[in-house]
Amino acid sequence: MARRGASVTLIERGRVGCESSWAGAGILSVLPPWDYDKGVIDLARYSETLYADWVASLKETSGIDCEYRRSGMLMLTADDDERDDIRARDWFAASCAESERVAARAIVPQLAVEREAWWLPSAAQVRPPRLLKALLVALSRMDVKVIENTEVLGFCQSGSRIVSLRCGEGELGGGQFVVCAGAWSQRLLGEHALALDIQPVRGQMLLFNCALNTLGPMLLEDDFYLVPRADGHILAGSTVENVGFDKSTTAAAREELMAHAHALLPSLNKKNLAAQWAGLRPAAPGNIPAIARHPEIDNLFINSGHFRYGVTMAPGSARLLTAAALGLPAAIDTAPYRWPGGARAWKSS
Ligand SMILES: Cc1cc2nc3c(=O)[nH]c(=O)nc-3n(C[C@H](O)[C@H](O)[C@H](O)COP(=O)(O)OP(=O)(O)OC[C@H]3O[C@@H](n4cnc5c(N)ncnc54)[C@H](O)[C@@H]3O)c2cc1C
Repeated sequence: MARRGASVTLIERGRVGCESSWAGAGILSVLPPWDYDKGVIDLARYSETLYADWVASLKETSGIDCEYRRSGMLMLTADDDERDDIRARDWFAASCAESERVAARAIVPQLAVEREAWWLPSAAQVRPPRLLKALLVALSRMDVKVIENTEVLGFCQSGSRIVSLRCGEGELGGGQFVVCAGAWSQRLLGEHALALDIQPVRGQMLLFNCALNTLGPMLLEDDFYLVPRADGHILAGSTVENVGFDKSTTAAAREELMAHAHALLPSLNKKNLAAQWAGLRPAAPGNIPAIARHPEIDNLFINSGHFRYGVTMAPGSARLLTAAALGLPAAIDTAPYRWPGGARAWKSS
């Protein structure tokens, strides 16, 4: 929006970029894609077309390399799951995605298990903490005002418009208001949420400190993944837990993730475990985010509910939000991302 000339203020309860977006693995794919609706796939694909240019321009502006790279992904398949195998074959064939059926050890020889796998050579990743740092620098270069340590508590409404935000330090006025408060979006909106359904889902992650080239591509087995960074670190994640707004880490998750990581790559063990953390994903039904104008309040917008793929969908979501708020044409069909509920019929924005 700032790039389009809008005067933007970002109000953050804590420090910018320290919640779910920081905690994410940075895998830039929907996995497995055949489990998701068109709305998820379309937004992920649209974002994929924007990513390389976006991170390049962020690097130019901020000097920070977000480590966007096509490290590839090896998707291990269950030996006995013929149904899933057929779905995968059909999907890859129909989508023309670069893919190859391989023996997993042909790609990752150090793998402890001998299995069949799908090799996706162009699957990409980014390093979220670096992406967020780069974004913050870019915001300052675009004169976006960032107000940290300020919680938005509610909205002051007059007729069908919001006139200001209620914050700890008083009220803040503006022309248009965008809620992008992740897992807290629905709670912040209160009665204005209407039928929006965004719940916190905790994800825990481990970080291993490894020698360079311990693992080349990303590795996926069911819901579990290993993501190698360029400097040798390897991420192992992640849990999917319905525990409300509890962001603590647990010994049980550490043991579970450690056991899975060790079973695939025996060099991952307690000795090289460097960190454990948790984040709260903003979970919306079907993993379809809401990116739209409020059905009843003309100047209230949302960009939230990206659940497991908020990093993947980031650049496309920002474009769709900008289109909605500034009345510009959108590059993809925005109907799946409308704000659910409300008495007034939803109109395309
Ligand atoms: C363990 C884990 C692994 C993940 N891996 C991936 C992955 O590999 N690929 C991928 O695409 N996605 C991944 N995700 C999902 C992705 O991180 C999220 O979908 C995305 O980060 C959500 O971004 P967001 O900006 O909506 O929320 P957040 O990043 O949580 O940001 C919301 C912000 O709003 C602020 N806020 C909340 N309430 C208020 C208030 N009242 N006033 C002011 N500020 C407020 C918060 O402090 C926070 O900074 C992962 C998530 C987790 C937890």
